[in-house]
Amino acid sequence: MVSGSDMHGTPITVTAQQEGKTPEEVAMHYHAINSKSIEDMGISFDLFSHTHTKEHFEAALWILETLDKAGYIEPRISEEPYDPVAKQFLPDRYVEGTCPHCNYESARGDQCDDCGKTLDSKELIDPHPKLNPDAKLEFKETEHLFFKLSAFRDSLLDWLSTDKEHWRPAVINFTRNWLQEGLIDRAVTRDLEWGIDIPRKGYEKKRMYVWFEAVMGYYSASLHWAKNQGQPELWKEWWENDEAEHYYFMAKDNIPFHTIIWPAMLSGCGLHLPHDVPANEYLLLDSTQFSKSRRHAVWIPDYLDRYDPEVLRYYLSSIMPEQKDANFTWEDYVTRINNELIGNYGNLIHRVISFAQKNYPDGLSSKESTIPSVHAKILEVHNRVSEALEACKFKRALQAIMELSQTGNIELNEAAPWKQVKGNRDACEATLVTFLNLCRSLSVMMTPFLPKSSQKVWEYLNQEGKIEDNGWDSALEYKTKFNLQQPLPLFSKLDMQEILEKEMPSEETNELANVKPEITFDDFKKLDIRIGTVEKVDVHPNADKLWLLDVNFGGPTRRIVTGLRGIYESDDLLGKKIAVLVNLAPAKFRGEESNGMLLAAEGEGIVSLLQPDKEINDGSEVN
Ligand SMILES: [Zn+2]
Repeated sequence: MVSGSDMHGTPITVTAQQEGKTPEEVAMHYHAINSKSIEDMGISFDLFSHTHTKEHFEAALWILETLDKAGYIEPRISEEPYDPVAKQFLPDRYVEGTCPHCNYESARGDQCDDCGKTLDSKELIDPHPKLNPDAKLEFKETEHLFFKLSAFRDSLLDWLSTDKEHWRPAVINFTRNWLQEGLIDRAVTRDLEWGIDIPRKGYEKKRMYVWFEAVMGYYSASLHWAKNQGQPELWKEWWENDEAEHYYFMAKDNIPFHTIIWPAMLSGCGLHLPHDVPANEYLLLDSTQFSKSRRHAVWIPDYLDRYDPEVLRYYLSSIMPEQKDANFTWEDYVTRINNELIGNYGNLIHRVISFAQKNYPDGLSSKESTIPSVHAKILEVHNRVSEALEACKFKRALQAIMELSQTGNIELNEAAPWKQVKGNRDACEATLVTFLNLCRSLSVMMTPFLPKSSQKVWEYLNQEGKIEDNGWDSALEYKTKFNLQQPLPLFSKLDMQEILEKEMPSEETNELANVKPEITFDDFKKLDIRIGTVEKVDVHPNADKLWLLDVNFGGPTRRIVTGLRGIYESDDLLGKKIAVLVNLAPAKFRGEESNGMLLAAEGEGIVSLLQPDKEINDGSEVN
């Protein structure tokens, strides 16, 4: 199992510039955080690498060269944004201008952060280089290498209709629709100095496009892993062996890269195509999407400061969004952990091992199980779990294990060793050996979900070595002797009220969201805000969302352009006293000059004008 961090995204170079660091410093900083979180969560990769390694650069160039030799790479001329001051071509994120959809003035060349629409630099009004805002953006012809993705459409459609019964329906449908709409050839180089060099004349200032090389990380990490093993050819067992099956794990927003783009590249190079791409739907937090900028998230390093990673692994596995979006709530987290993980599983393990250890401190033995139904259930569940895991149905696998544990609790109550021990110690010993074997089987099957606590159970049962080294089928072995260690409870019960108070503090105690950087009183004094009366409302000739207002400030009248059309009717505005920032530099909106900006409150879709609450003269200052 290999993966890694993508190091060459444009956001990295933007952050680096803003923080005065090199892109490599920024990328390595995040790679270190991610690697540590993964390790602390008990996720063990054979190699978790990144895309800024010698191995990745070599592998990426080999793939580019191989595709080129096969005729799938072609230089083409296209028009790209160009900064005449810096004398360089710009990636879309380095272009700013006014959004043609909502008039937001700082829209980027790839997207408007205000209305969320995807954009092209050419669509922006007054586009300019982000770093040289006074310069006028130019569009100049430049050469780039293109990947002929369109050439793979038919073969991918064939591949998609062959032996894909095990694929998730959402993944296959999404991929088929995308292919049926047709594939567009895409540029695989760009004008940016951060990334993988292209050894080609005229490409000295160009780098490999990140969408093209990031997916190659799976391949380069395999090569890197083999090298680390001291057997540099070992990767071939996974990439050139027809018996090997490749699984790719991700969320649904990444489907096309793994079911279309990467498979096209792989088949162009004669490498193995994915066996399964079991993409998950989204995990929501309190029914809305996680968001870094709104700080609507559960941060892994924060989480790990307070709680047990195993508990989170259990909760996330039990609600995994395999078929539809799932919802993380702290309430549900506490309920499931207390009722299922502790009430069912943890309790059974602790009850059995602690009772047996206390009453038989010198060990227990019994030739065969005196409760055959328990062993039969282990066999049946082991089968179901194996099948579910191979089919990437992880939730179903976990449910089956929990069902086995539930059966164990019922059987244990019926056998009642705490009664047996008083009258017939031998019968009690035989009963306990049966249930100790059940605990042993459960710990093996739980290992993929709860690696650390399963190892603990293994040690309480005094079994040898690391649990995973004993193999999956060791769950089916029957041990006739146990010499136990004194166990501790596997998990601590969670306090609902305490956790809700900590994780979901009420609104009043919450910090004000999205506060801008602090300013001084002198900064504030620079703002000249006055009260004025709206005397006239006109329709903007070229924009259907804009009003032209004439506002009287007790003598002089000013023309102000505002985006309130559709929110306030002209009659609602006429005669109103409003607050206006009057010393804002004039700006043109679709050809009409605005000499000031009116103040309004905005929140949750409502826009409301700021107005004085007493009669006051036009021209009065706001302080
Ligand atoms: Zn917009």
